Order: sequence, then structure tokens, then C-alpha cells
Amino acid sequence: MSALDEAQPLHPCCRDKTTVSGNSSDFGEVAKQPLQGLKLASHAALERAQRSGRLKCSKCGGSRMFFCYTCCSLVGVSIQEVPLIKLPVKIDIIKHPNETDGKSTAIHAKILAPGDVTIYTYPCIPEFEKDTVVLVFPGPGAVSVQDMLRCLRDRGGSGSHASPAEPKAKRRKSQPVHGATHGAEDPESGTPDEAPSSESRHHPLERVVFIDSTWNQTNKISTDERLQGLLQVELKTRKTCFWRRQKGKPDTYLATIEAIYYFFKDFQQLCLSQEYDGEYDNLLFFYSFLHSVVNKAKMSAGKC
Ligand SMILES: [Zn+2]
Repeated sequence: MSALDEAQPLHPCCRDKTTVSGNSSDFGEVAKQPLQGLKLASHAALERAQRSGRLKCSKCGGSRMFFCYTCCSLVGVSIQEVPLIKLPVKIDIIKHPNETDGKSTAIHAKILAPGDVTIYTYPCIPEFEKDTVVLVFPGPGAVSVQDMLRCLRDRGGSGSHASPAEPKAKRRKSQPVHGATHGAEDPESGTPDEAPSSESRHHPLERVVFIDSTWNQTNKISTDERLQGLLQVELKTRKTCFWRRQKGKPDTYLATIEAIYYFFKDFQQLCLSQEYDGEYDNLLFFYSFLHSVVNKAKMSAGKC
């Protein structure tokens, strides 16, 4: 979710032969193929589910594959076969009511990190604390992920929005559970408390807000007064691989799950100064699989 970086050429993503390897031992040079070399849980269950075809969602009866985007539940895949991700900061996703659920990638985040992700349908959104919450959205006043924490600290010190505040950084869990599955704990039970493991965790960021909408619909949400005054953060250099790329939009306009993934990768490296070792790659568990399916279909149709 970023503005046009005009210096960059278009990235011919759909021509990449994306390798979706089952496991991550072959982590290599990612270079210009961002979905290669990810440390992903096995896609075997998704391959099996794909062979089985669409099934009825047990809750709503809708015809679905892998998961039901209406009920936010898995279909044809068991919960133990899907990775469970712990995020270092909670995220809220604001969805446009007209956004087609089946095309949205926001649901991927909710299924993969259920304890840390909340999806709201606009205009039902909460009030956000301006000293501890950022909005990932491009704009003239947006800052980079690298500058985000400094800007937040500056705000907190200004006093204009200072509030007694909730305890900061107390509930954070620094290390995501890499490779864990949903079987490990009740996804609805939230994140258990854990002692801080590093000083870097004492940062002011409590929550990150993403907008899930086609780019033509985002203006109404981003200009909502409840989001005004939030520090805006821009992912300036990332490029999309989304197969539903929007006509006329630059390739730096990311799918929601891509934006979430890149945000946390940058956050770990640039804000926490920690080495990135694929901790959040499984955010792209469904996305990378679907990407490879679409690419294969395009190639066999001779379009790519
Ligand atoms: Zn359903």
C-alpha cells in the first residue's frame, strides 16, 4: 500500500515462476522474486484440498475452497495443517463494505494470526489512540517504517494527545511461534503474557491499522475523522505480486496481506534491529499458494 515510486520499472511479477516449496530448507536468494525462498509451512494440505475441489462451509453452506471468507473458518483443511503466527503488535483491518470478501486477502491474516488480527467493516471502527496507533496508508505526510517509532515517540512527548495510556509494551510477545500450528493453543484465547526479551520491545507502538479496499474506495475510509491524526506509515519500495492487480495502478499498490507481511518484516529489521529469519513468511501461506496456482493456470493458458 504505497504510492507510486516513479523511478522503479514495473516488476513483471506474473512472469515469475514462483517456487512454492513445501518447506523452507531451501531458503535462498530472494532477489527479484519476492515469493521465492519464503519459509513456509507445507502446502500439502492446500494441494489436497485443491484436488478435492470446493466444499460446503459447515457454518454458512457457501461453496468454498481452503477457507470461508464469510465465516472466517477453514474448509477442507484442518486447523493443525495451517501455520499459526504470533504478531508483535496487534493489527486492525478496516474493510470497505463493498469490497468483495472472496477477493480480499485480509481474511488470510485473520485465519493465520487469529489472536492478533481484528477485521472491522467500515463505518464500524473503534476510536484509536493517536500516540500508540499507526495507519499504514500512503500520503504526503506518511513516514517510512524506519522513522515510525521515532515519530510516535515525538508525538507522545508533545503532550497534545498524551493520555494516561495503557501500559506500554507489556503485553507484547516478541517472537512469533514459527512453524507452530493452530493446534498449539486456542486461537481465541489471545496472547499469553510473556516477559520482555529485549529492550527493543519497549516501543510505543500498540496497534497497526490497515485499510482493505480497492484503491478507488479507500479515500472515504482514509479521510474518516476517526483516522485523522493517526501517524501514517508508507511502505515505499515494495511491489505487488497480486494477480488481481488493479488497472492503472502502480505495482507498489500492495494487496492487504502483502502490506501486512512487509510491514512486520520491516518492523523487525528496521525498528527492532533484529535479524529477519522468516518469522512472518507464513503470513503469505495462502497468498503464495494461490499465486502459484494462478501463475500455473496463466502459463497453461499461454497468457504468460
Ligand atoms: Zn461460511
